[in-house]
Formats: sequence, C-alpha cells, structure tokens
Amino acid sequence: MTPTTEPGFRESVDLMFNRAAALMDLAPGLEEKIRVCNSTYTVRFGVRLRGRIETFTGYRSVHSEHMEPVKGGIRYAPSVTQDEVEALAALMTYKCALVEAPFGGSKGGLCLDPRAYEEHELEQITRRFAYELIKRDLISPAQNVPAPDMGTSEREMAWIADQYARMHTTDINARACVTGKPLNAGGIEGRIEATGRGVQYALRAFFRHPEDVARAGLSGGLAGKRIIVQGLGNVGYHAARFLSEEDGAKVIGIIERDGALHDPAGLDVQAAKDWLARHGGLKDFPNVAWAADGAALLEADCDILIPAALEGVIHRGNAARIRAPLILEAANGPVTAGADEVLRQKGTVVIPDLYANAGGVTVSYFEWVKNLSHIRFGRIQRRQEEARHMLLVAELERLSADRGLGWTLSPGFKERYLRGADELELVRSGLDDTMRAAYRSMREVWHGHPGVTDLRTAAYIVAIRRVAASYRAKGL
Ligand code: NAD
Repeated sequence: MTPTTEPGFRESVDLMFNRAAALMDLAPGLEEKIRVCNSTYTVRFGVRLRGRIETFTGYRSVHSEHMEPVKGGIRYAPSVTQDEVEALAALMTYKCALVEAPFGGSKGGLCLDPRAYEEHELEQITRRFAYELIKRDLISPAQNVPAPDMGTSEREMAWIADQYARMHTTDINARACVTGKPLNAGGIEGRIEATGRGVQYALRAFFRHPEDVARAGLSGGLAGKRIIVQGLGNVGYHAARFLSEEDGAKVIGIIERDGALHDPAGLDVQAAKDWLARHGGLKDFPNVAWAADGAALLEADCDILIPAALEGVIHRGNAARIRAPLILEAANGPVTAGADEVLRQKGTVVIPDLYANAGGVTVSYFEWVKNLSHIRFGRIQRRQEEARHMLLVAELERLSADRGLGWTLSPGFKERYLRGADELELVRSGLDDTMRAAYRSMREVWHGHPGVTDLRTAAYIVAIRRVAASYRAKGL
C-alpha cells in the first residue's frame, strides 16, 4: 500500500514538472500554463445489461492543446479517477514532446473491471462511451485520437473506430480517429508490441553509453543482466520476451496480481504468459517458487527492475529497500515523487516513464499517418528498392566472373540484402531511431545542464522546452 503521506498521482507529476521548471528560465506565467490540465470531461451513462440498467462513469482529459490532435490512451479499470486520468494526460503531453510526436496530451478512463463482463457487453459499453466522446469531438482524427491502455486492446479500438465511422459516414479519414486498431481495421504492423519494443530500444540506448551505465553502478551490455518485471500484460510481456530472447538478459522475477514467480536461474517468459492466460494467475506454475506477496519481489536483488503494471508501486514506504540499481518505468507513474527523491539520494538510476514507454505513442503516430495517407508503409518503394539492390549484386557477380576473381557472397547475404523493407521493419526502424534520438536529447541535458542530476528531470526539461517553443510560436 502507498503510505497516506504520499502525494497523489497528479500531484506527483506536477512535483516532477516543478523540479525541472525550477531549473529553466521560462517566461513568467508560462510554467503554470504548461502544467495545468486544460479540461476534463466527465460522463455518466447507462447501459442495459442482464435485465437492468447499469450506470458507468468515464473521463476524457485534455491536458495541452499546443499541438492538435491531442493523443492518449483509454484505460478500463475500477480504480480510474479524475486525478489519475489528468496525471496520465499530463504525462502524454511531455511524452509526445520528448519523442517529437506532433500531438498534445490527453487521456481517457472508464471505471469498470473489464474481467467482470462478457465480450458482447463490453462492446455495448465501449460503443456507448465512444458515442458520448465522439459527439463532443473528444474522439476525432483532427482533434483527439485515443489508443489502448490498461484494460483495453485492439478489440476496443476497433469498436471505437467503427462507432466513429457510423457517426461520420462521409469522413474519408475516419480510421485515423483512434490508433492501436487491428490490422484489418486500419491498424499498423508492430503496434501491439510497440511499447514493449520501445522498452527494449530504450534499454539498448542506455547501455550504448558506458558512462551512463556506470552511473547505475553497472557495467557491460544487456546480456546476462538480471531483470524483474511487474505486470505481464501487453507492455511487460513484450518487453520481458524481447529482452530475454534477443538481448540475452535473464528475467529472474515476474510479479502479477496474484503473486510472483522468482527463479535466479531465469524464467521462461512465454511459458509464464501462457500459464497466466490459461489460469488467470501465476500460482502453481510448475517447478518455480511462487509467493503470494508479489510486491515484496520489487525489493529483491536484480540489475534492472521494470514496473510495467500500474502507478505508485514504488513509494516512500518501500523505496529505501529497492535493491535494483536501475529502474525502467514501463508503466506510467510507477515511482511516486516521494520515492523518486529517496531513489535519487541512493543513486538509483531511473529511466523515466515519459521516455521509457513512449514506444506506444510513437507507433500510434505512424499508424495515424498511415491512416491519413491511406497506404501501407513500404508499398510504393519496396520492389524498387529490391531492384536497385539487385543491380549492385548482379554487377558484383559480373565483375567477379569477368575477372576470374572467384568472389562468393556469404550464405544468405543475397537474400537478406535484396529484400526491400516491409511495414514491420520500417515501423521498428522508425521506433528505434525515435528512441535513440530522444535518449540523446535527454542525456545531453543530464550531463550538461546545471543542477540536473537525474534522467527524469532531464526528460522533463527537453519536453517543457519544446512545449514552450510551441506556445511561443502561437504568440503566447
Ligand atoms: P495490460 O492491462 O495489458 O497489463 C497490465 C498487467 O498488469 C496485467 O497482466 C495485470 O494482471 C497486471 N497487474 C495489474 N495489477 C497488478 C498488480 N497490483 N501487481 C502486479 N501486476 C498487476 O496493460 P498495459 O497496456 O500493459 O499497461 C501497463 C502500463 O503501461 C500502464 O501503466 C499503462 O499506462 C502503461 N502504458 C501502456 C501502453 C500501451 O501501449 N499499452 C503505452 C504506454 C504506457
């Protein structure tokens, strides 16, 4: 449990913002303008389910419209509150600025436990919620574009897109009203994995800089690093799988709702995910120690701790006991402002949420562009790229044969080199580039800006600078 003396989620985000703003030279009053949430719409609507009318409460917050459309996911959870949605909307503003996605920040939430409803009931609820938001332009390709978040997935996004299309039958850009859709409903390759993939690219970017790695008291690369992940949902599962399968890291702990698995020899992430899907929890997973007190594992010995479930899990009450020298915030707001202070004093390096989980919004940006351009990435140039590569390979082969040089290309080279990039490769490449560029901009401030001692403050400074520049350009 979070101690009661802890600031709330929104207050935490504001405190982190203030810390960065205090080190900047912003025009008088601009700091407040950027920090405050522009508007929050609350809706209560009824849906007839199982013979009675059930009333639901939902929110859509718009934190900043310095760029439009505004962007941010829709969360389904019983704990959704206005405070939480506003905090998440603010994070979206800073996140989009940091990764140069041309959006303002927004977020939505519906207070319900999605596991308590049948699929057809969830569809009814989602369509009704979407209807309420669409009729107020709180979902619109030009003004406000939601995406999945905790408790929602591409299924809900497809319902929202369809609801929008039914209400705007002549809008040729209707599909761009929401991102994270299934491929057959206007989605993009690589969106489901995007946030977890972004976590992988963020850690790779960090480990490319030995000086930064040393600040966390670590050395070497990602291979062999011991990871504990909290939350094996969309973000946590993909991050854990990619890091263990592709970077040689060892996932030694997985924390879920019902408890945690711990094995210093390393866990099989895919097997744990399959078990979770089948049994709804990790208990009784074969041959691995399970403990009901999942949160205790946050404090276990490891190299990298990845909270990827929900906010406020590292707080004043447990921060001092966290042993991981490096924390990557895959969830939004998993470290409270109080805990952040304790961790900074301990020298723990935190890769902050607004950078670490920006892969989702980055690929959402690509999907939105794809929807507006009405063509899949790579469709025009792929074969032309292959033909140009073929010219080079044929020329090399001709030279070798004509001059009797006996050159042979290494096995598989020709096939790999000739193949033009498809949409998935282009998306991953664009995401990788985005995460590298954002990391560079953050570390420049981390190492060079007076008074900055942590990556979070650095990230906020980069983001605030960009939002401030947008406001200046608008004459504010
Ligand atoms: P999800 O619903 O797919 O997964 C969340 C997982 O956390 C589930 O497996 C759930 O069982 C588990 N969980 C819930 N409460 C827990 C607890 N107390 N302890 C341990 N595990 C618990 O959600 P997601 O989309 O993976 O989002 C996770 C976090 O990442 C959220 O903070 C979200 O805002 C953030 N995020 C998501 C995206 C995205 O693209 N989905 C993008 C950016 C940020």
